[in-house]
Amino acid sequence: MQKINLVEIKSDDTFVVDMMYAKKDNMMQTDVYSAVGMGNRCFVQPDLGDCLQKLRPVLHQKGLKLKICDAYRPPLAFERMKKIIPMEGFFARSAERSQHCHASAVDVTLLDENGAELAFPCVVDGYEKKYALQVLQGEVKEFYQHLEKAKYSWNAPEDAEKIKNREMLRRMMEDVGLAALEHEWWHFNLPNKEKYPLVKSVFAADGSCQFFI
Ligand SMILES: [Zn+2]
Repeated sequence: MQKINLVEIKSDDTFVVDMMYAKKDNMMQTDVYSAVGMGNRCFVQPDLGDCLQKLRPVLHQKGLKLKICDAYRPPLAFERMKKIIPMEGFFARSAERSQHCHASAVDVTLLDENGAELAFPCVVDGYEKKYALQVLQGEVKEFYQHLEKAKYSWNAPEDAEKIKNREMLRRMMEDVGLAALEHEWWHFNLPNKEKYPLVKSVFAADGSCQFFI
């Protein structure tokens, strides 16, 4: 195993780190990231960190902030998530196939200068408590229908304003070199994924951490 460095992004006047799996308001209704010792911390590949830094002037100019809802996902956390929601098609088939486990992806949304979330066709992860409760019972049909709103192909006229925000976010992220995912408006990753192997991690109780490939 080889030690590598990831960059930590911290909340400031541009970024708001609010990892959705480091609290209970998520599809699993449980705080998986604290369970593996990472908690509400945002780590990314240095290349991804560079892309995010390029967003600063753009966000400032628009009076917006970027809320980061997910970034590096420790493979141990991924395994727990798969156990809680094992259904095919929900999470990636393996940690190896999840770009979050390679620290090469972020899930984001936009906030206005007062910290209020801009409107999008659905919230990040398509999360709503009622769907989470259904999914945890093994009932995914309604949720998968709801997830149609997560796709770039969702173009309902009544959502025109939300779609405008979605397209603005996509443009901003692509302009700094990130790639969008057709079925999740909130997800962006580094384009050359083969360059970034799976990242393992150790989080110590004193907050120090180590990353390995
Ligand atoms: Zn993602």
